[in-house]
Amino acid sequence: MTQTTLTLNDGRKMPQLGFGLWQVPAGITEETVVSGLRAGYRLVDGAAIYGNEEGQGAGVRASGLPRDAVFVTTKIWNSEQGYDKALRAAEASLTRLGLPFVDLLLIHWPTPARDLYLETWKALIAAREAGLCRSIGVSNFQEPQLERIIGETGVVPVLNQVEINPRLQQPALRAFHERRGIVTQSWTPLGQGRSFAAPAVVAAARRAGKSPAQVILRWHLQIGASVIPRSTRAEGLAENLDLFDFALSAEEMAAIAALDEGQRCGPDPANFNMG
Ligand code: NDP
Repeated sequence: MTQTTLTLNDGRKMPQLGFGLWQVPAGITEETVVSGLRAGYRLVDGAAIYGNEEGQGAGVRASGLPRDAVFVTTKIWNSEQGYDKALRAAEASLTRLGLPFVDLLLIHWPTPARDLYLETWKALIAAREAGLCRSIGVSNFQEPQLERIIGETGVVPVLNQVEINPRLQQPALRAFHERRGIVTQSWTPLGQGRSFAAPAVVAAARRAGKSPAQVILRWHLQIGASVIPRSTRAEGLAENLDLFDFALSAEEMAAIAALDEGQRCGPDPANFNMG
């Protein structure tokens, strides 16, 4: 079975599965990206704050793949919000990446206390018009913030990258995304391993002959989310890509749905204003 593709609300296509670069040391980012792309991934998720955009871009170039074959994401950090600053930050990211454009540019966090995310969203619209990126989206936005940027600009983000894992499933936000044609992209999809031993996950893994991590990543795909697990191990990268020769049954999906406790691994976007 081949990898699946999602069509974004701007008409562009995006691989549903990718790999993430948070906490990947700058010194090994290039080789991690090359190894991920050679293994078969076609989407690589980075951010200015990860401090490894140079390696991200170098890896894309060194992979030998045509630029159009790889979907590259980066994000504007909190301290760079505001119209002019965000545009300059987008340009600086491209310089560090050594790429003429990214496929997807995101606002990393809304940082509500700053109240600059609307201006920043307008900068992303301008960045897309200027060709710095092909698609634009957000990360860690909640429903009222999405309503506000859409209402003020008429431009709907192609996706919202948010924390989703079996203990934090965010059903209301996902339903809102679906109504507005916004793709949900899951960060910390493995949830720090806190559901690896859950009976629902273990039973599905045993039945399918897969690992708990593979069952959880397959659950993300089957709820329609894009998912971007991270591994710095070649075996981890390969394992997390090997999701397309099995499916979870409706009963297995329901058993994983029942694991939701609304518990975050990461910060609460409502009051995360760092940077
Ligand atoms: P993940 O849920 O992808 O988990 C990564 C951890 O799980 C690592 O410790 C990794 O260790 C381990 N792991 C990976 N694969 C397996 C496996 N098959 N079995 C067992 N353990 C495994 O967490 P992240 O927090 O990195 O989230 C993924 C990506 O999402 C980030 O890299 C980043 O791109 C993005 N993100 C975005 C955020 C945002 O605010 N927008 C916030 C956080 C993340 P090892 O390397 O040893 O395999």
